[in-house]
Amino acid sequence: MKISLNTLERVEVGVLNTPLEYMPRLTEKLGKGNLYIKRDDMTGLAFGGNKSRKLDYIVKYALDNNYTTLLTYGGVQTNHGRMTIAAASKFGLKSILMCYGDKPEILSGNLVLDRMLGAEIVFMDVSEARKATPGPEQIKAYVDKRISATEMIVKKYEAQGDKVLIIPIGGHNAIGTAGYIFAVKEIIAQMKAQNIKAKYLVAGYGSTGTFAGLWIGAKYYNAPFEVIGIPMSPSPASQESCATFINEVCETFDLNIVCNPEDIRIEQGPDHDKYAGLGYNIPDPKTREYMYMLARTEGILTDPCYTGKTFRGFCELIQNNIIPNGQDAIYLHTGGTPAIWTQEHLNEIQSELWNDKDITII
Ligand SMILES: *Cc1c(COP(=O)(O)O)cnc(C)c1O
Repeated sequence: MKISLNTLERVEVGVLNTPLEYMPRLTEKLGKGNLYIKRDDMTGLAFGGNKSRKLDYIVKYALDNNYTTLLTYGGVQTNHGRMTIAAASKFGLKSILMCYGDKPEILSGNLVLDRMLGAEIVFMDVSEARKATPGPEQIKAYVDKRISATEMIVKKYEAQGDKVLIIPIGGHNAIGTAGYIFAVKEIIAQMKAQNIKAKYLVAGYGSTGTFAGLWIGAKYYNAPFEVIGIPMSPSPASQESCATFINEVCETFDLNIVCNPEDIRIEQGPDHDKYAGLGYNIPDPKTREYMYMLARTEGILTDPCYTGKTFRGFCELIQNNIIPNGQDAIYLHTGGTPAIWTQEHLNEIQSELWNDKDITII
């Protein structure tokens, strides 16, 4: 199916034209080039984040094709899930969130919001898949579980007369990716208006849709910056799979752009000390150090699962002159802040920020 980018329509799940701000105190602190932040944590709906730019197009598709229900997947604390549920509520749809993992004992973080927003939450028991040998066998075990669980749930909804749109994890499809192709146009216009000369745009690299959209947008609109992806998992999606996805998206929109794996720049940090830490969503003191730094220099909050890690990567690229000394750069804040209040992260933050010796009682 070919779709023209120019005729693609959206609904307003979130707001566009999020601020592109200068970070004077962080710039001074790192002492290199001028540093900017693109505030996609401010896309609005249900605390915002990058997924709303994708959902603008996905929800439009759902409404145009008479779906009644959105179903999507994620980790237990998925931001994409939270935003999908909020978008469903806003547009009068039902929502189902299927989480990989066990039901936590205590309700915290995004899950609080997911339940407030009214989704059906399904936890998929992946204990068998977890035990499988890492690699193709394990991936197959997860996929098999997802497919069988989805079939059961969808059957239940269809029996009630619902039509269920299955949205991949992270909103990772071509029309969702359009949101970040267009974001590049927005950023270029803001750079012109504010006379910003950044040579680098640094963004998170998860399901890779955000990165893919930015990469395509940078080519399509002839951006003055290179896009660098920072993974938030120590074993991220491969450059091959990201390039394949980019080429599929470019085919869908008939863009005449081709991507090779070596065209994809991801920066992970040194092997013994990756920006992603020890694992996806594993609490990490170095990540928190950088979260506190941004909070205390610019009053901007990041989260311990995604943006704390990618912000650390952004800073270390600058501190270590991997972004050449003196070059201006933009950090894309992708949201995720409700994860600050996730139980496992709160436990760590408690021990760092809640010592009696640091708190005044008069
Ligand atoms: C989903 C997410 C990302 C990663 O975006 P992808 O498009 O999946 O690569 C980064 N930051 C936050 C806060 C997210 O929720």
